[in-house]
Amino acid sequence: MEQTLKILVVDDNEVDRMAVRDALTKAGLQMELFEVSNGNDAFSALNTTAYDCVFFNYRLPDQHGLTFIQQLRSSKIKVPSVVLTAQGDEQIAVQLIKAGATDYLSKSKISPEMLVQVLRSAIRIYWAEMQAALVNQQLRESHEQLLRKNQELERQQQQIQIQNFKLLEVSQLKSYFLATMSHELRTPMNAIIGFSQILFRSKFGQLTHQQADMVERILSNGKHLLMLVNEVLDFSKLEAGRLDLKAEIFDVSKVINLAVGEMRSLADAKNLSLLVQTDLQNTLVFNDPVRIKQILINLLSNAIKFTESGEIWVEVKELPASRVTIVVRDTGIGIAPRNFKRIFEAFRQVDQTITRKYPGTGLGLAIIDSLVRMMGGKIFLDSKLGSGSMFKIELPRQITLSTEAADAPDVQLDSDDIFSSAKNPHHSSSQTR
Ligand code: ADP
Repeated sequence: MEQTLKILVVDDNEVDRMAVRDALTKAGLQMELFEVSNGNDAFSALNTTAYDCVFFNYRLPDQHGLTFIQQLRSSKIKVPSVVLTAQGDEQIAVQLIKAGATDYLSKSKISPEMLVQVLRSAIRIYWAEMQAALVNQQLRESHEQLLRKNQELERQQQQIQIQNFKLLEVSQLKSYFLATMSHELRTPMNAIIGFSQILFRSKFGQLTHQQADMVERILSNGKHLLMLVNEVLDFSKLEAGRLDLKAEIFDVSKVINLAVGEMRSLADAKNLSLLVQTDLQNTLVFNDPVRIKQILINLLSNAIKFTESGEIWVEVKELPASRVTIVVRDTGIGIAPRNFKRIFEAFRQVDQTITRKYPGTGLGLAIIDSLVRMMGGKIFLDSKLGSGSMFKIELPRQITLSTEAADAPDVQLDSDDIFSSAKNPHHSSSQTR
């Protein structure tokens, strides 16, 4: 069933109103028609009743059609509006449509068909326009929302940048602290080690068995402490990008045997066999011998530390493409795969509790990882909990020194002078490594 349309006709001319009424009636439209003769009455009617369409004469006795339509559009009243014009008033009609009227109809063309056609299209156009306006409004709102969100994101980004900057500052401060402290600690440590060694010399008199035992402990603890301090210093230098490699041509098998020799007493103390197998046609490499030895000592000390019984193997082999591999394998406690990545991070240990069984700084593997990267090599880990671990390092036979690292200013430390440092513990004097 067709809905009853409520139509308002605004015209002071009774004859014109009648023409509209007759035409609409003849069209057989189901409607309720209301008529007023001026703009004021039209607004009163529109304010109290919801109309489906308003036909208005553009020349009203109390106001011009333009004022009428402008008022209508700026009010809250929602109604399609059709201007009734005299013949030849097309330009005015265009003006009124620009101001917000939905359509126009020349009074000379009023006929049942024409009126129904204009009425239906005015209603359709009006509501389509309303729909579009609503969508536009929604779009505007979501655009504003997006703008607000963007501003919020920008604000958050700025805050993150500030936080990052602060973190960077704190991290730099930490690195500076570590570098300074470890550097300062090395001087008295070297004095302790040096004087303990001197005490063993017979020209200062024979030590009793008990005294020798105590000095021996001072010496080994001092060496251990120095190693820890050196680890911290190396780490802080690596972090600051200020550690450079001092490459030269050397016999890698000799350096490996040297490192193994230094660690053998520790392995013996735990009844672990320490086996070395070198299988190289050419034993010469171009690398930093001190750092290669450091890497091996670190891997070996871990292997010994984390192995209670069994063997430790060191293998050195040739690889294709002018590369060399160094493998350290043990039959120790092993590492769970979920910890493979973590243990290469600084200060990370599988057991992070204070009461852990195995001592250490958690820096060894982080340092090895950085050194191996600097050498253009790779490090691989294979391990099984309870069965043992294998650390494999692959290195180019000849490393390429990065000019950046070579040019970077280094913490310049003098050579050991235990006598001067002992007399004046605030005077730093020890070797970089
Ligand atoms: P640290 O030995 O001082 O704790 P590292 O960086 O050298 O620090 O090693 C980090 C952790 O990796 C160790 O604490 C240990 O949990 C694990 N790890 C390293 N090497 C071995 C190994 N050979 N066997 C078992 N666990 C190991």
